[in-house]
Amino acid sequence: MAVPKRKTTPSRRGMRRSHHSLTKSSMMECDNCGELKLPHHICSACGFYNKKEVVRKTEEIDEEELKAEN
Ligand SMILES: [Zn+2]
Repeated sequence: MAVPKRKTTPSRRGMRRSHHSLTKSSMMECDNCGELKLPHHICSACGFYNKKEVVRKTEEIDEEELKAEN
């Protein structure tokens, strides 16, 4: 089994770990509802992308179906 010849110094260890930091995920405000969303993603609150409704939320579909029945 290959074994390190020398103990890793605190300096070397720090240099290795200098790339370990996590990046903060950037958030955008939705154009439609103002909810925070990930850029280039459909808004999870209203289902809009690029100012168009792309995904229907299940609650909205239920409301429209009830109106159609009455
Ligand atoms: Zn939205």
